[in-house]
Amino acid sequence: MHSQSQLSLAEWDERYAELKRLGLQEPSYGGPISRHVAEGDLRLRRLKYDPSWAALNLWNFLLTEEDRLRTARQRGSKIVGTMKDLGTIPVMAYSLPNLVAFYPDGAWWIPCVMELSAGLLKVADDLGIDDSFCPVRAMLGAFVTEAHFPRPDLLVCSVGAVCDDFSAIAQRLPGLGHAVHWWEIPHRREPDKDEKAVALPGGAEAPSAQVDFVRGELEGVRTQLETLAESTLDDTALSAGIAMANRIRRSLRELRHLVFTAPSSPLPALELLVAEMLAIHFCSDRRETLRVLQDLLTEVRSRIESQEDEPDDGRIRVFWVNPVADLRAMNLFEACGGRLAGTDFLFAHALDEIPEDLAPLDALARTALADPMVGSGQQRAERICRDAQTFGAEAVLISRIPGASHCALESSLIADTVSRELDLPVVEIEVPPLCDAMLPTLQTRMEALVEVARARRKP
Ligand code: SF4
Repeated sequence: MHSQSQLSLAEWDERYAELKRLGLQEPSYGGPISRHVAEGDLRLRRLKYDPSWAALNLWNFLLTEEDRLRTARQRGSKIVGTMKDLGTIPVMAYSLPNLVAFYPDGAWWIPCVMELSAGLLKVADDLGIDDSFCPVRAMLGAFVTEAHFPRPDLLVCSVGAVCDDFSAIAQRLPGLGHAVHWWEIPHRREPDKDEKAVALPGGAEAPSAQVDFVRGELEGVRTQLETLAESTLDDTALSAGIAMANRIRRSLRELRHLVFTAPSSPLPALELLVAEMLAIHFCSDRRETLRVLQDLLTEVRSRIESQEDEPDDGRIRVFWVNPVADLRAMNLFEACGGRLAGTDFLFAHALDEIPEDLAPLDALARTALADPMVGSGQQRAERICRDAQTFGAEAVLISRIPGASHCALESSLIADTVSRELDLPVVEIEVPPLCDAMLPTLQTRMEALVEVARARRKP
């Protein structure tokens, strides 16, 4: 069972030294995880890690993205900051050979990873974006300090059916000297009875007219990317980009399926969360993302094979809703006896395969419209129910995001729908960027969920 062998940072250092003695071959971004602490990633000292070589590479890959972006610029690539859509625009950007895309939104996690030492929330406070906004306000601080990612050559941001938090924060950027190309994503609505409907990845439907509209918006993004790259982004290049994104999404789909359904959990929740994040923008290197995921898959497959004939690990299978602002909460969850059996970290549409039998911009428009956050909360809740059933979840944990404008009402709606449709126990928690002071409360709630679910198991 993985939890017995999870390592502290100091234990990983010892293991790393041992692996080096045994001739460990590392990628260019390799090294002990602890070296990132010296760069300010203080939270790493408080986490527990999977002990595999594949997980080592996963962490190092994640924590070296800034270096990759700077190297890309030195080599003459242009950098595109894509904001809010989570998963669609990077597929377009990476279809051009001299563009690299990243999400400034990823600053969401800097207050956690750097244990507030970067001062980004204070910068946001000073600009009037206080803690009534979600942790994405750290992005504003990162734009001001320019200490966490290179200044993008182009910023592309979706507007329309996006949360108030992001919208208010992104609208500050032009005033700070950052030109933004805005594109509109409409609120996804149910097609009228007499209206032509099209299927979206993930099972929802949208009116054909909305897909046409989004395709037009993406045409505008294509023009921006072409201008920046000084090269044409034709349908052949876009189709190749979609095919590569789908290879990554298929690897992740298999990884998730194995992790959620194996008798004993073959990968900790924390590493699974990090692996899912790679699919959004490929951590600034598509090929390496695929390699990192495939190594994780190999590790997980081999663990499952060696589990044969072993009984179920007895952990309670929990469907997890929303990302946590403090990664430490994922370790705590497993210490309380839980394991993941499905996730919705707000970007399900970045994990579903993009249709390859359609014109590429049509396919990407459908993907963008499949975003769980641009449709109704009820539709999101229904997909959560479907996925929780598919993975045999015994309970659902909703992790509310502090300050997030959508969480207060949506969390209750999801909880009510899960209770009504699946009759599963549900608990809501709220995880701030540093949850240390709340660990006892969080632990009590997680343990209560696990105990209630365990009591419902048939003898
Ligand atoms: S976490 Fe929620 S409130 Fe914050 S930016 Fe994302 S969707 Fe918006």
